[in-house]
Amino acid sequence: MTVAVYLPLADKTQWWVDMLQDLLPGWTVQPLDEVTDPEAVSYAVVWRPRTGDLAKLPNLKAIVSIGAGIDHVLADEALPQGVPIIRTVGTDLTQRMREYVALQVLRHHRDMPRQLQAQAEKDWHAIVVPVAPNRTVGVMGLGNLGTAAAQTLAGLGFTTRGWSKSPKSIGGVETFTGPEQFDDFLSGCEILVNLLPLTDQTRGLMNAELFGKLAKGACVINCARGPHLVDEDLLSALDSGQIKQATLDVFHQEPLPTDNPFWDHPAITVTPHVASQIDAATGGRIIAANLKTYEETGTCADLADAGRGY
Ligand code: NDP
Repeated sequence: MTVAVYLPLADKTQWWVDMLQDLLPGWTVQPLDEVTDPEAVSYAVVWRPRTGDLAKLPNLKAIVSIGAGIDHVLADEALPQGVPIIRTVGTDLTQRMREYVALQVLRHHRDMPRQLQAQAEKDWHAIVVPVAPNRTVGVMGLGNLGTAAAQTLAGLGFTTRGWSKSPKSIGGVETFTGPEQFDDFLSGCEILVNLLPLTDQTRGLMNAELFGKLAKGACVINCARGPHLVDEDLLSALDSGQIKQATLDVFHQEPLPTDNPFWDHPAITVTPHVASQIDAATGGRIIAANLKTYEETGTCADLADAGRGY
């Protein structure tokens, strides 16, 4: 069985090739750019494949996304149709996202940016905030990551809401469904966490209209995908005070260009797409296991639905 691997950085590609080769004895794992017999390739393991890369492999049984999102695969305009896409998810990824969301929500909840500013000014400025049950936090997207994040926030005592496409029942979380309940979900939200997949329906959702529906002075955390956010609308909402603070882990262009205003904005925290970056060794084991399962059974638990876009 032959596996072709592609990541934008060549040294990273080789690292993944070596690791997957160790985990898949008897299989042939090679960088996609070194494939000499495209017809022999059964599986492609990719992060942000270049348009046309996958169309060169006519006998693909499945494409593996190195990550939970599949938007970077669907962005390939020449993507071969009908080839199943396998996501890479697992408890490692979920745990990392729990940690990131808890960290950033607590940071906004306790107004740490203002507290750190006071320290810089040697100002004994005691900030008293509501206790967590008196703070309303919303999580957009209740999949693997959003559910874990919402449960973590509920466990910390926050009044926690969640929003998804289909109805959900999650202990301690008030759930809202679909566009018809979106305004009720947003109304009164003081901290908003985005964990939606990037699809035609969710692109640009974090815009002026959404910001205007949150509580005045709300904080927003985008740890899903950069194009969920309309950047200019966030800057305007920060200027007007409708949004107080933002934490952004993902961006339209990554790495974030050095002249992007987000870097210097006093009310924006930038992290470099690390909210839940897959640990390569763990990710490799998950991918190898998924490939073996798929090869043996023709399916696996982490199959995405390309039709719905996630
Ligand atoms: P899942 O596919 O498991 O869950 C997606 C959730 O979003 C589901 O609850 C789904 O609803 C909901 N949803 C999708 N479309 C809509 C819509 N139009 N309206 C309302 N709800 C919608 O995704 P994961 O939890 O695994 O991951 C979420 C995203 O997080 C990934 O797509 C990726 O972009 C991002 N991510 C970011 C990382 C980082 O380090 N910053 C790391 C990993 C992922 P339903 O349940 O009804 O289908």
